[in-house]
Amino acid sequence: MKENIEGYTKVLDMAFQAMEHAYAPYSNYHVGACVLTHDNQSYIGANIENASYGLTCCAERNAIFSAYSNGCRKEDIKAIAIVSDGARIGAPCGACRQVLSELLMQDTPIVLSNGKESLVTTIKELLPMQFNEEDLK
Ligand SMILES: [Zn+2]
Repeated sequence: MKENIEGYTKVLDMAFQAMEHAYAPYSNYHVGACVLTHDNQSYIGANIENASYGLTCCAERNAIFSAYSNGCRKEDIKAIAIVSDGARIGAPCGACRQVLSELLMQDTPIVLSNGKESLVTTIKELLPMQFNEEDLK
């Protein structure tokens, strides 16, 4: 993991803007995400909670599903930023790591920030020994 976030200002700013739209009345933990493509398209997501807690969907899944819904595929994605208003940097949950392991290239930058600290990582760092499409061939 690297702490140098130079070059990720735009994608971070858009993720923080998306965080403003989080619907988190139960946890009060707000998350935003932004997928940025190589051709400068961006797809945002925020966490959306539900009184039936298991139906909650995380910001990064909403953002990457939006990108895919608009025709993007993993090779089109330049970076994804995931930001929160937590006291420490919020890393993706286990479910999101599984999703990102299939929908991102292994070395696509994942930029994490809580507005005070930031770092850059990859899905191969966040989820080693992945179960993925290769296992189903
Ligand atoms: Zn998640």
